[in-house]
Amino acid sequence: MKVFPRCSLFFGFLVLLSACLTAHAQHYSQPALILKPDRIANFRPEFANAVATEIQIRLQEVNPGQPSPIFYLSQTPPLAVDFPEILFLRFTGSCDVLPQMPAPHAPRALGSVPFVKGEPINYILIDCEEIALTINDAIAPMKPEQRVDAMARAISRVFQHEYLHIHRRTSHHDETGVFASALSRRFLVAPDPPTSPSATPAAAVIESVGAL
Ligand SMILES: [Zn+2]
Repeated sequence: MKVFPRCSLFFGFLVLLSACLTAHAQHYSQPALILKPDRIANFRPEFANAVATEIQIRLQEVNPGQPSPIFYLSQTPPLAVDFPEILFLRFTGSCDVLPQMPAPHAPRALGSVPFVKGEPINYILIDCEEIALTINDAIAPMKPEQRVDAMARAISRVFQHEYLHIHRRTSHHDETGVFASALSRRFLVAPDPPTSPSATPAAAVIESVGAL
């Protein structure tokens, strides 16, 4: 997936936020993960929960045994906290799965991570609309609730790909798997292999800071 060398503005914001958080330290052992949909109206709490739960599974695959993040929806955490890591996920476009086949269009990147001076920053952009268009014909035969789950899973796999850019601090890709330079629609929506109940993380909890 494409990596766009931009976002000095975002970087400035992160520095500012981290300075604020350090000034009023109250320590958490878990990272914070902030979901920032551009269109909150079609990012309902139950959909946000499905996305957060899938993301938790993807993070466990990358960092087994690590504490699950504390999720925030559309809000930054209160200033009087300090997290070991803060990750922003911005969702552009509508995250609704479409009722019919989309018109052909020039494909865009499903997600991206800005690099500043050759280093990735903790800011992942997810193009919800492009993901919905990409998986549309793979999920068309599904029931409505299955389509929502498949969309959450596809988002989490794009998240995992982008997160690996940050985790490995590289813009390069693997030949195959989730860190390949392109992901098929079949891969994006494929169900997870069965795991033992003890290995399955609990449903994600989304903290609410003010109104959602
Ligand atoms: Zn990539």
